[in-house]
Amino acid sequence: MRAIQMVRPEARGVSYGDDVEVPTPGPGEVRVRVARTAICGTDRHIYHWDESISHLVRPPVTIGHEFCGYIDAVGDGVETWSEGDYVSAEMHIVCGHCRACLRGDFHVCEHTKIAGLQQNGCFAESVVVPASNLVRLDPETVPPHIGALLDALGNAVHTVQAANTVEGRHVLLSGYGAIGAMAAAVVQFKGAASLTISEVSPGHLERAHEWAARMGDRVPIHIVNPLSEPDFAGKVREFSGGGVDVVLEMSGAVPAINDGLEVLYPGGEMVMLGIPAGRDLLIDRFSERVIFKGLTLKGVVGRRMFDTWDEMLSMLKLGLDLDHIVTHQLPLSSFEEGIALLDKGEAHKVVLDPSAG
Ligand SMILES: [Zn+2]
Ligand SMILES: [Zn+2]
Repeated sequence: MRAIQMVRPEARGVSYGDDVEVPTPGPGEVRVRVARTAICGTDRHIYHWDESISHLVRPPVTIGHEFCGYIDAVGDGVETWSEGDYVSAEMHIVCGHCRACLRGDFHVCEHTKIAGLQQNGCFAESVVVPASNLVRLDPETVPPHIGALLDALGNAVHTVQAANTVEGRHVLLSGYGAIGAMAAAVVQFKGAASLTISEVSPGHLERAHEWAARMGDRVPIHIVNPLSEPDFAGKVREFSGGGVDVVLEMSGAVPAINDGLEVLYPGGEMVMLGIPAGRDLLIDRFSERVIFKGLTLKGVVGRRMFDTWDEMLSMLKLGLDLDHIVTHQLPLSSFEEGIALLDKGEAHKVVLDPSAG
């Protein structure tokens, strides 16, 4: 079968093969024929062998972790799934017995393995996953190009869920990359008092403006480039009646984190999904900006298993529209073209079709 693998990191890049062995599901596992799969920021970092992620990858491995498809083989002991079922899957494989798992906090399992990094992922015609990680999809409300985004949408929804609430609140979202764009759609869908988007990349800014124009004014949406706005804090306070209640930090950029803390209204909260580079995060005037304002800072990782999945599937059923996020659809073999589009900031989400070549 066709697959994209990280084989020799020292050579950089990946290998695209069409003679990779089709995997066989073991006990408790199923094999899924991949209908669509999407390129994640993580895959880009693996492709470029960036330090932020390379230490987690165990080559040789088939990369990719965002997909949907149809079950085409079922291992021993799997009773609730059958061939032909339309599914996606949580690709964080958890142990089920550490303290976090026993509390139901599977998303922070101490022994998490990520398919597409430490075991074979879904940039292939078929992928094997534990049956306990499957999520059933409704083909009426989740077409395959959207089904391929659910892992990333889960990050966005989990980030929004991690705030006390966004309904009726003033929200600043920093970082309108693919996950930021999904989080913006969720915030708009849920009905915030206002949404301010802060972004610096010209391509992402353009897509943010296009989306905001289409959404109308049910939720007032403001878009600011902090690099070209000399009074960023003043502007955001003007848009939010004196300060925002919630910052959704999706950029990992230290200036954005500082700006977000600056414009948070006392008692507000910052939910952090973006990953700052380097080991330490320097916050200016920490006591003034965080402690004396009584802020809450919360880190977010992965998706809650499986309440985040339930929430996103129900929002899609109720009409959450994400079509604008899928800017490109390519055959699997054009993976490197997809990476180049993302590197240049010309794409939001690139969806790949393994059956198309
Ligand atoms: Zn991902
Ligand atoms: Zn665990």
